[in-house]
Amino acid sequence: MMGEVIMRQKLIAGNWKMYKTTAEALAFASEFTNIYRGGEHEIALCVPFTQISALKEVLADSDVKLGAQNMHFEEEGAYTGEISPSMLVEIGVDYVVVGHSERRQYFAETDEIVGKKVKKAFEHGITPIMCVGEVLSKRDAGAHLEVVKKQVDGGLSGLGADFVQRLVIAYEPVWAIGTGRTATGDQAEEMCAFIRETVRELYGDEAASGLRVQYGGSVNPTNASELMTKANIDGALVGGASLVPESFKAIIQYRTNASIERQDEMGDIPTGK
Ligand code: 13P
Repeated sequence: MMGEVIMRQKLIAGNWKMYKTTAEALAFASEFTNIYRGGEHEIALCVPFTQISALKEVLADSDVKLGAQNMHFEEEGAYTGEISPSMLVEIGVDYVVVGHSERRQYFAETDEIVGKKVKKAFEHGITPIMCVGEVLSKRDAGAHLEVVKKQVDGGLSGLGADFVQRLVIAYEPVWAIGTGRTATGDQAEEMCAFIRETVRELYGDEAASGLRVQYGGSVNPTNASELMTKANIDGALVGGASLVPESFKAIIQYRTNASIERQDEMGDIPTGK
């Protein structure tokens, strides 16, 4: 519907990558649920397969959702080492990360494979978090928009508009992942707005307004506010800083941090702490 303002709930998700044993994951969950009691944003942890069931149990009374970091696009078969969509449904994940740049780089995932996974996840009622992002040489060459457009086109090919509306796309510039070098708020906003426009052209207004676009790449408690207050940035996909309960919580509460910083700058206004 033209002109309708849609309030998208932000999704702040941790991507633990290949970190933490189950014992360490349980220790995280117990500390995190002690210090974080829910709030305005949707929160998820995308963890290694082996931790999902254990975390599901201990996080059952919390608002924290769980996601996997990968999934095969076939229902079943002779694919040694792979995990099927039904296996993820059975253990109760809400999200699955698809097409992370580390999988594109080290496991040869193409846009076509990513597209198959996105479709299959939706068929099984799992929401995909589809990652896109350019390498530094492409940004330096001014080709970043073109690269990401191709990834979006490829990853969404053949997907119905009703699915696109519920999709999450994570814009993660490869040069910002694990490097401590974050995109500026303006760089991230430019790309996230461009992704939404690309989706609008392909799928129309409703899909574009419902779509959530996250930013990922060295998000931390200090830069979270600059990024997440942008109009087209609907949350964050957080790597390293999501491994520590305090810093993940501080990112989630980026509004509070920002206002405390502002109050500190202003001097004597009590912070309420
Ligand atoms: P970092 O936050 O560690 O840079 O990782 C980002 C990322 O790849 C999340 O998927």
